[in-house]
Amino acid sequence: MIRSVKGTFDILPDAKNPWEAQPAWEKVYCAAQEVLERAGVGEITPPVFEHAEVFTKSVGESADIVVQKEMYTLTDAGGRTLALRPEFTGSVLRAYIEHGMHTRPTPVKLWSRGPVFRAERQPQRGRFRQFHQVNCEILGLDNPLVDAEAITLLYQVLKACGLKEIVVKLGSVGDPGDLSRYNSYLREQLGPIQDKLSETSQTRLRLNPMRVLDSKDEGDQKLIAGLKRPLELISDEAKHHLEGVQRFLRDWEVPFEVDPAIVRGLDYYRRTAFEVHHRGIGAQSALCGGGRYDGLVERLGGPVTPGIGWAFGVERVMDAMLEDGVSFSGSAQPDLFLVPMDDDAVAEVARIATVLRATFAVQHAYSKRNPGKGLRDAERSGAHFAALRGDRERDRGVYTLKNLASGEQLEVPETDLALVLTAQLEALGRAQTDLVSG
Ligand code: AMP
Repeated sequence: MIRSVKGTFDILPDAKNPWEAQPAWEKVYCAAQEVLERAGVGEITPPVFEHAEVFTKSVGESADIVVQKEMYTLTDAGGRTLALRPEFTGSVLRAYIEHGMHTRPTPVKLWSRGPVFRAERQPQRGRFRQFHQVNCEILGLDNPLVDAEAITLLYQVLKACGLKEIVVKLGSVGDPGDLSRYNSYLREQLGPIQDKLSETSQTRLRLNPMRVLDSKDEGDQKLIAGLKRPLELISDEAKHHLEGVQRFLRDWEVPFEVDPAIVRGLDYYRRTAFEVHHRGIGAQSALCGGGRYDGLVERLGGPVTPGIGWAFGVERVMDAMLEDGVSFSGSAQPDLFLVPMDDDAVAEVARIATVLRATFAVQHAYSKRNPGKGLRDAERSGAHFAALRGDRERDRGVYTLKNLASGEQLEVPETDLALVLTAQLEALGRAQTDLVSG
């Protein structure tokens, strides 16, 4: 049997894990769409692959994605080196430049959704090779107001997904000068004891020292415990910027914690950096990462354009939703299930189903059923009502309509089926509302 590639998964009409079930995707994507579009964020859908240099330039040569060879690259028949996107930012900025979007009124706000690809060595729950992100970029302004807006939108999307236990951690990696000062500081402090660091941290110390702080290795954590954090060494301007962001967030009542140790995995970040964590799914695993990346558009060959963005992993957000007791049940429950009780009725129910589907969710059996089996099929489909059709019904020009919850049964002329069904479903809706409101 040919199986799906390790670290990838199918999204089915329904399944136990939320990320493998279509209704959960609709829930998250609808929440994102509603919150973001109301704020004037337009959706952009770039291709899933690009010239590889889009990403080597955007994430930077020293990012894990490049260093640890997590990018899926291929050479096509024309000898071009292409890559499946390991993140959205590179693609979105490439498109922003290509379509001259810098001439639009600022800020330009863009969001995206879809699969991203990373050749994770050890795929596991929450760490896939094809996973999905909701990504948002705000381009053209370097005002702290925009940083606060980006963070607030993220917070509102996650809240709209039903998450309760989330924490926004806010920090700053300072300006490029601060970053290189901090990196020199780390080299000075850790250089002499680098043999004691894990292998990953030794590589990071060489290529992108700040990332050593992100190490999950306990030995590393002990060695770096006493070191200064990036926030302690940033310039007054960068501090001032961070204070501005905090002022807006407080004013807008978006809860956050300042975390002096926030660093970002990709080396294009400057100033504002943030993560969202969930109390239930482990301190180490961020649901979302984001930050400011002034200078990146230029690096990709575009005009001077400041920007800030974030991306969250949809599967991880779904895991957190599960923790928080969010229900993922779909709306696919049919209104009516038609049961043909003889061969002629098979075509009759199929025909009336196509008519009724203009208004209702309707399913039917595809071969004749005895009433017992037919009603069991109807119940299994989750339908509210079953309608049976056999020779007795044909003679009288009717369907036998059965409320599957109450067992109540009535005979309905076939021409009145839509009308009666509407009234019955309405009554059912009212009864359910009464039940909820007690
Ligand atoms: P990053 O671009 O590395 O900052 O990742 C942004 C978000 O994507 C993370 O916070 C995670 O929620 C998610 N993410 C990153 N890598 C994976 C992965 N291999 N599998 C699932 N989700 C991931």
